[in-house]
Amino acid sequence: MRVLVSGGAGFIGSHLADALLADGHLVAVLDDLSTGHRQFVAPTAELIVADIASPAAASFVARWRPDALLHQAAHVSVRESIDDPRHDASVNVLGSVALLQACHIARVRHVLFASTGGAMYGAALTLPTPEAEPATPASPYGCAKLAVEGYLGYFSRLHGMRSCALRYANVYGPRQSPHGEAGVVAIFADRYLRGEIPTIHGDGSQTRDYVHVDDIVRAVLGAFRAQIVGVFNVGTGVETSVREISEHVRAAAGAATGARHGPEKPGDAARSCLDASALRRGIGWEPRMSLAAGLAQTVAWFRANRL
Ligand code: NAD
Repeated sequence: MRVLVSGGAGFIGSHLADALLADGHLVAVLDDLSTGHRQFVAPTAELIVADIASPAAASFVARWRPDALLHQAAHVSVRESIDDPRHDASVNVLGSVALLQACHIARVRHVLFASTGGAMYGAALTLPTPEAEPATPASPYGCAKLAVEGYLGYFSRLHGMRSCALRYANVYGPRQSPHGEAGVVAIFADRYLRGEIPTIHGDGSQTRDYVHVDDIVRAVLGAFRAQIVGVFNVGTGVETSVREISEHVRAAAGAATGARHGPEKPGDAARSCLDASALRRGIGWEPRMSLAAGLAQTVAWFRANRL
């Protein structure tokens, strides 16, 4: 099949593109390289450097005629979305709508969307949190993801586009940027390996659901092959505190001194963890990578590759 991966030069998108190529698909990557890296794109994939909202992107879609879109491109900083909601919406809502409309015109039949679990449920009442929990995003970034899920419903109902929104938990693994504010595994690995002391915001007891990028790739490709439709959480159902992550990464990096503590980040949820039973029932997906193995592999990657 011909598969277009938006954001395919980024962390998750590049792993997806590699897995699609390994499965024998023809892959095109649409990425403006704002946070992505050209060297993450395999030479056998076609790279189009363009904004998802641009006429160049729309005309590429019209010309290349993909069978499916894996929409991963986004402005990913939650903090920046709070500082500048309008910019976040211009990329994450308007850019997504422009790309979906271009896909509709080009008769793309199948779309898989990188949504969020971590930023969707706010202070969830149920943990691990199922999809039935009311969506109460605490950031413009989460609002934009929810809005795009709504547009997917529209394109599906009115135009017959099959779509699946996968709400990822906190994804970690090789190629994640250590320069943002969210990828704590990448940030800790980078700082500890440089001999620096990272900062934990607050006391470090806040929990997240850390899922390895290889497990995300199996979930997305499983959903792609099975052509399931709807909204699905993708997470491990296991809560791990930021303090524990820091200690695991410190040990794997061989650093002597642990993190220091700084002020809490306002609006930071105390706990977050996803129930992925719907995806398990739908395609038999289970996370396979243990946290210990995943963190060791990620630290080893950062030791060999500096971003
Ligand atoms: P990333 O920053 O590594 O990847 C995003 C990619 O999109 C980058 O290559 C960037 O250059 C590209 N991009 C950004 N704006 C663009 C635009 N206007 N036009 C074209 N390309 C553009 O981030 P990631 O962690 O790989 O995230 C991938 C997707 O998964 C995003 O949609 C993100 O919101 C979602 N997600 C990530 C996580 C996580 O923990 N990493 C969790 C939930 C959801």
